[in-house]
Amino acid sequence: MSKSLTCYHCQKDITERSDLVVANRRLVLRPYHNQCFEKHIDESKEQSKMFFDAMPINRTYGNIMAVLFLILFAFLYYFVDIHPFIYVLSLIYPVYRIFSFFLYEIRLS
Ligand SMILES: [Zn+2]
Repeated sequence: MSKSLTCYHCQKDITERSDLVVANRRLVLRPYHNQCFEKHIDESKEQSKMFFDAMPINRTYGNIMAVLFLILFAFLYYFVDIHPFIYVLSLIYPVYRIFSFFLYEIRLS
């Protein structure tokens, strides 16, 4: 496994985990530099793309969202009798969070 990641925006290596931003771009996780991600947000805003594009998945926001969705999943699973598809929906975000960690963050230390 390679020790470095390539930024989706500028195609250069990302070497520090603190400089890594993982974002959900059209349902695919992509690695960015901090600065490239900010540029990417600005460009996305100009083209008025979807909102969740602008939320890094590997920062505090992503961790909080993953925990909230896991709580939601547990609540639905134990207390509500609904279609199984809803359970799956509530696990999408936590699964993205885990993928982000194992695909990208673990490679930079
Ligand atoms: Zn970059």
